[in-house]
Order: sequence, then C-alpha cells, then structure tokens
Amino acid sequence: MVDRLAIDGGSPVRAEYLPYFRPSIEQGEIDEVVDTLRSGWLTTGPKVRRFEEAFKAYLGARNAIAVNSGTAALHLALATLDLEAGDEVIVPTYTFAATAEVVVYTGAAPVLVDVHRESGNMRPSDFEAAIGPRTKVVIPVHVAGQVCDMDGINEVANKHGIVVVEDAAHALPAGPAGDLVGRTSRFACFSFYATKNLTTGEGGMLVTTDDEAAARVKRLSLHGLSHDAWGRYDDAGSWYYEIEEPGYKYNLTDIAAALGLRQLERLGELQAERVAQAARYDGAFSEVSWIEGAHAERPDEHARNLYIVRLNLQELTCTRNRFIEALSAENIGTSVHFIPLHVHPYYRDRFGFTPESFPNAFSLYERAISLPLYPGLAAADQGDVIEAVMKIGASFAR
Ligand SMILES: *Cc1c(COP(=O)(O)O)cnc(C)c1O
Repeated sequence: MVDRLAIDGGSPVRAEYLPYFRPSIEQGEIDEVVDTLRSGWLTTGPKVRRFEEAFKAYLGARNAIAVNSGTAALHLALATLDLEAGDEVIVPTYTFAATAEVVVYTGAAPVLVDVHRESGNMRPSDFEAAIGPRTKVVIPVHVAGQVCDMDGINEVANKHGIVVVEDAAHALPAGPAGDLVGRTSRFACFSFYATKNLTTGEGGMLVTTDDEAAARVKRLSLHGLSHDAWGRYDDAGSWYYEIEEPGYKYNLTDIAAALGLRQLERLGELQAERVAQAARYDGAFSEVSWIEGAHAERPDEHARNLYIVRLNLQELTCTRNRFIEALSAENIGTSVHFIPLHVHPYYRDRFGFTPESFPNAFSLYERAISLPLYPGLAAADQGDVIEAVMKIGASFAR
C-alpha cells in the first residue's frame, strides 16, 4: 500500500500524477504509420529496408538488420556463434532480464559479474577476472547510455579470443561524434522498446561489421529461409524459398519501421531535450549531499536514456523504498534500474548467489531511483520532480 499522504501531511507537490515515462510521437510518425496501413504492405517490406539503410547511415555502420525486439537482436548475435552446452557467456548482473536470458536460450551458461559501484557498467577487470577455459562471449551493457570502457573490454576479449556482443539498448546515440556505439562493433544490439531513445513500440536492430554474420542473422530472423518475405512477394521475387536451417520469427513489421523512420529523423531533437533535462537535474542535485545526480564520466557522449540518481543513505533516515513511496505520494512516477540479476530467484537459486555475491551492483540497486526524463517532459513538470525530491530529502536528511 502506497501512503498517499504527502511527507509533510499537507498537499502533494502535484495534483495530478506525473508518469515516469511517455513516448514522444508527433504527426510525422502518425502519418507514416497511416501511409503504411493504406499501402497494403504491413509486414517486413519497403519501410523496413529504408529504416535499416537510414539506421546504418546514421551510425556509419557496415550492416544493420531490423528485428522485432532488442532481445531478438541479442539472441541472434549469439545464434551466429553456435554456442554449445558448457560454453560460458559473461554478463554483468546489473542489467535487464534480456541480457542473460538470451544466453540461456542458446544452452550456454551465463556467468554473472559485478560492475562499477557508481556507473553500473562492467569494467574490463570485472570481465577479465571471470574468464575461464569455456568463455566464448562477453555482453557489456552501456548502462543508462554511458559507454563502457570498450577499449579495455576489447583488449581483454582479443587477448582471450572472446567475442564481444554489446547490449546497446540504452546507447542510441552514445560515444564520440563520428564514432557512435555500433559503428565499429562486431555486434551491437539496439532496442526500440517504448522507453528507449528511439521507439517503434517494440523493435530492435542488430549492427555488425561481420558480413557473413549479417547474412545469417537476416536468414535466422525469418525461419531460416533463403529469401525474406519482401523478396518472396514483390513482383521481381518468386514463390520459392528454402529452409536452410531452423530459425526464428523475429522480423520487424513495416508498421513499426514507419515509426522508426520518423523517430530517426527526430533523434537529434529528441536527444537535445534529454541532454537539457539531465543538465537541469545535475544542477539541482549538486546543491545537496544526500543525493547524487546521474553518473556521467563523459556527459557529451552519454545517450541519457535513464536518469538514475543515487541516494547517500548514510545521510538519510529513510530507505530508497520509503523515498519512492514519498515521491509517489507527491504524484511523481519513478522506476528502479536495475534489480540485479543475481537477486532474482532463477539466478539466485541456480547459482546460489546472495545479495553480497556482487556487492557493487547490490549497493547501487539499494540507492538507485530513476527519475522522469523524456522528450516532451514539460519544464514545469520537471520542476515538480525536483521540488518533490528536495522536499522529501530535506525531511529525511540527518
Ligand atoms: C530494453 C532492454 C533490452 C531489451 O530490449 P527489448 O527491445 O525490450 O527486447 C535489453 N537490455 C537492456 C539493458 C534493456 O534495457
């Protein structure tokens, strides 16, 4: 039960609930989707091809294959590597379900590792310490949109012959201009889920420098068929196909790609809003010591998908959960990123983990609150978030 009474017993900062997230959809996206609906072609077709080309051009990537989720992109990257039972894939514990679940799909074993205590990113040292004779792959996650130390991770991976599959779900666009995440990646997997920086409702994109892997991903994304649906049904195509290997049903629809095309055109404008909002939060939270603004080593290279604050619990008389309850009573929606994988029943019981097995990730989890940050969040609404956080912090400060 959430306590609806504001922390001071008075009226809440906001009369109406402010959602943690709302997607930014404008007339251009709506028109493009309607155009698709009227076109007679709903599934994978011309808009998916255009979206792939535009995405590839945007990143300067070599190959881009659209799929129906970020999870599918991660799974297909692993599928090209023909992992076997007993093989191991290193995954940070501080991530979303998808990152390790796809390893389980392949029959290989996920090997969880700890992360940097403030950024939540896996460090090269976390990765290197977990390498064993059967380690085949590592999946770094660019948490919140802050790029991992990829030079360090690639160096360790190359030394041990390990393939790097980047979980870039939060990382569009991230990294230095001209060298965005995905441009030179062996594999980088993006998500277009509703809360991501670019959304198609549900969707994903796999980018790869490996042409052979790209061809296989494309085939595996549609039942392992030798031709995709576009090739099969357009005038120049044919009815004939061959099943070259068993695949999956992971193709993106043209309806979703229509959204993606217009979102990609707006990405610069959408990012500018995220960056400005993050700077405003940073400024407000630098005034007090019981909270730390989102961690950003290189703010100008950060995708700002999430704005994760960390409470300094030793300076507060409340827990993170109590702080969230109080925010909710002020009508502010929040989220928590992430409940580390190792405390979830499946991983905890399978590997016998305790919360302290990965102390940095667990400590980060206990201190973290994700605040509303999204294009379209009005300045007055963000002001309410800041006011509510300050009011609650002041009342719990030691
Ligand atoms: C969103 C997300 C994914 C998966 O994306 P879907 O498109 O929802 O399948 C993977 N990893 C991380 C870290 C994510 O946040």
